[in-house]
Amino acid sequence: MSLTARFSCLSDFDPDALSVEQARAFIRSQLTRVGTRERVALRSALGRVLASDVIAPFNVPAHDNSAMDGYALRHADLASSGETRLRVIGAALAGKGFAGSVGAGECVRIMTGALPPAGCDTVVIQEVVELDGEQLIVPAGQRAGQNIRRAGEDLAAGKPALAAGRLIRPAELGLMASLGCAEVSVYRRLRVAFFSTGDELCSIGTPLADGEVYDSNRYTIFGMLTRLGCEVLDLGVVRDHPAALEAAFREAAAAADVVITSGGVSVGEADFVKPLMAQLGEVLFWKIAMKPGRPMAFGRLGSGGGGSDEHAAWLFGLPGNPVAVMAAFYQFVRDALQLLMGADPLPGVPLLPAVSSVAMKKAPGRTEFQRGILSQADGLWSVRPAGAQGSGVLRSMSEANCFIVLEHERGPVAVGDTVQVQLFDGLV
Ligand code: AMP
Ligand code: MG
Repeated sequence: MSLTARFSCLSDFDPDALSVEQARAFIRSQLTRVGTRERVALRSALGRVLASDVIAPFNVPAHDNSAMDGYALRHADLASSGETRLRVIGAALAGKGFAGSVGAGECVRIMTGALPPAGCDTVVIQEVVELDGEQLIVPAGQRAGQNIRRAGEDLAAGKPALAAGRLIRPAELGLMASLGCAEVSVYRRLRVAFFSTGDELCSIGTPLADGEVYDSNRYTIFGMLTRLGCEVLDLGVVRDHPAALEAAFREAAAAADVVITSGGVSVGEADFVKPLMAQLGEVLFWKIAMKPGRPMAFGRLGSGGGGSDEHAAWLFGLPGNPVAVMAAFYQFVRDALQLLMGADPLPGVPLLPAVSSVAMKKAPGRTEFQRGILSQADGLWSVRPAGAQGSGVLRSMSEANCFIVLEHERGPVAVGDTVQVQLFDGLV
């Protein structure tokens, strides 16, 4: 079934008033992973997506070992009530165990990670014992087996330690290193081509003529794509001219998995791009009920070569305004690219409550993404808009540390109301 037909089946979806959730859900429902697999050295896997399960080749930990610094002993030696005296006969260190065995009435100093000596089944932490010469005084109340990490407790040999589809972050790198993986199987990087459209745009390095503006979208898009680990192909500025646009779309679609454009989808301009798209592929033009970022195109472009194995690329036609580009990218494209990369659907960037320190105008019927500054005052997180909110004002985007997400149905915000925020930066 064609993309248009699949979209039209959703009877309550109006392309001229699509909610953010509807647009996001439709895009997600159409995408499947595009990449083939490749093997890369472990460090190069950072930010990539695992293409095969990683099976633990051995137990982790490989052996029982002490979880704490303390003393290893035989639980059976401890008095059922009151304290017990044991003789300290040596020490077990991480990587350098105690060679002998521990007999009745004896114990061994043990450090975290060290293997408990033969005969010992319990570790008592150093904070609760007392030493009297070579004698250790152990208080009552110790549980058999306590403070020992068991072999295979973290990962059992032969079981998946990480599943295909996992985005590889520093923790996954460390986990795979702990299993001795020098190379891992990942999906190849997603190739994303992008260009800007507009007769008024000038590329940096060239003096601005009257009425021109520098093309900033190619830089924000470059940054956002690079952060996501995509292979980027910058096709420059393309004039609002059918032949130039057609050539750029064909080149981009032939070279990449995904094509991202900015500008040219607003009313008027879209009228001129739409017939072109109809020849090159199948593209839906939407007016999304959001601010900023209302017009957007989504679809599929063939390379124009014909044939059933023709390469096709996904298209995201973003609005031209610099902040609208970023809002639309973060709300729709980021997720979509992660799915195409082969990542399991992620829960999405969380929305967190904060108290608004100012009143904000808002009409029900669209989702607004205001650039906000979240700060802590008297133990509460409060948020205020970061300066002018025009959809061309990148400065407030730069000063902001979050989006204030004012939901579709919401009306005006009063001082002290709780609003939802989406942080720009995460921990990992
Ligand atoms: P458009 O969506 O093409 O009508 O563009 C909307 C507004 O965004 C206009 O003011 C454009 O000049 C501006 N704009 C479009 N593309 C870019 C770009 N690549 N860099 C900076 N501003 C842009
Ligand atoms: Mg334009």
